[in-house]
Amino acid sequence: MSSEQTPPDEVLVVEDSRSVSGLLARRIQEELSMSPQVAGSRAQAQEILEQRRARIAGAVLDLDLPDAPRGEVVDDVVAARIPAVVLTATLEDDLRDELIGSGICDYVMKDAPDAVDSVLRALRRIYRNQWIGVLIVDDSRSAREYLTHLLRRWGFRCYPAAGGEEALAKLAEEGDAIRLMLCDQNMPGMDGVTLIRRARRTYPPHRLGIIGVSNHGSGLLSARQLKAGANDFLTRPFLEEEFAVRVNQNVEVLELLHEAQEGARRDPLTGLRNRRYLDEIAEPLGETARRTQQPLAAAVVDLDHFKRINDRFGHFGGDVALCRVADFLRDTVRRADVLVRSGGEEFYIVSLGIDGEGMETLGERIRAGIETLEVTYDGDPIDLTASVGVASAHDVGVEEILKVADRAMYDAKRTTRNCVVSADRRAD
Ligand code: GH3
Ligand code: MG
Ligand code: MG
Repeated sequence: MSSEQTPPDEVLVVEDSRSVSGLLARRIQEELSMSPQVAGSRAQAQEILEQRRARIAGAVLDLDLPDAPRGEVVDDVVAARIPAVVLTATLEDDLRDELIGSGICDYVMKDAPDAVDSVLRALRRIYRNQWIGVLIVDDSRSAREYLTHLLRRWGFRCYPAAGGEEALAKLAEEGDAIRLMLCDQNMPGMDGVTLIRRARRTYPPHRLGIIGVSNHGSGLLSARQLKAGANDFLTRPFLEEEFAVRVNQNVEVLELLHEAQEGARRDPLTGLRNRRYLDEIAEPLGETARRTQQPLAAAVVDLDHFKRINDRFGHFGGDVALCRVADFLRDTVRRADVLVRSGGEEFYIVSLGIDGEGMETLGERIRAGIETLEVTYDGDPIDLTASVGVASAHDVGVEEILKVADRAMYDAKRTTRNCVVSADRRAD
């Protein structure tokens, strides 16, 4: 899926009761920010499928429709490879088995008190799963195909691998796209426990969830998989419903862990990355600069007399100003640049492949932009300026280049403030 394309974000709601479809449509819109497409009959559903197939991420289906009383609409939606949740009033065992076997991802009983919540939860998962890649590692082709088939029902992206080496290569190749690995135990070459151990050396649990899969009766194996770093395990044969619940639960835990990790690396006021993020990225960034022989450049931007801003407008006014500056910086730096709020009213920019002159130009654009930034608080304008220090060099680390830029920034403070001082020029 290319990033320019908007991903499918519509939900097909097939339901002949207007009150139920109305309620579902409203909540889908409000709580999931997805667009409902409502059909009151199988014929209408088919029409929507024909016209909007590529935009539809998932479907909610009523089994009893005026023109399709026995769940026939399920076949249409499953054939279109759209993840489907069935909302049903009756569910005898044989119908349930038939339904699950037919390729829907979930069913919800209409009269359950939390029925609509359950439908929304499933749809949210289906929507988010579009971005979640699952690596399926199994030497048996039929096993890989079976797991792929079950995962596709829930909208996951699937990456098959026939063995441990291939799995590690795919993980390295696909980067963040793969978030979960399902891993068989008995494989020629590298067994599951070894693969799990090796994968964990590079990918921590917030980055990659791992579910070990083993055959019934293999004794202590599940414990060994967990000890090697798996988050969970499944024993074959398993029920398809259990499989889906386990996978989705693991993905949910992964998302929470990821959010916590992300949150710790962001400044809550401005939403910019913080010092902790910079500290983590500093070494790999410096290493890339050295390896690719590119210069590393940095700018330190410190707002002038910010204490006075707080004194005049209060802390809340100061916060508004900081957020505006952060937004402006975000819009001004390149996507590849590292931009952090390093603390208080100070920001760092670190760029790979920009020389001193380029950084000085960027520094000047930032200085001029902050000077002309229109910020108001309670109707009063807040006038801001910033002092900027810039530096660049080959063969230095991120911390060193920032230190040099910081000294240049202090020179700017000592002279006129509201100016850019280049350390490169200073050294001349
Ligand atoms: P200079 O031009 O020398 O940089 O003067 P300054 O007043 O900007 O510098 P100083 O470092 O002495 O003071 C920085 C001020 O920034 C003090 C502090 O109250 C304020 N500040 C730091 N963090 C925040 C914040 O999150 N919100 C607000 N409103 N103010 C903050
Ligand atoms: Mg300041
Ligand atoms: Mg300061």
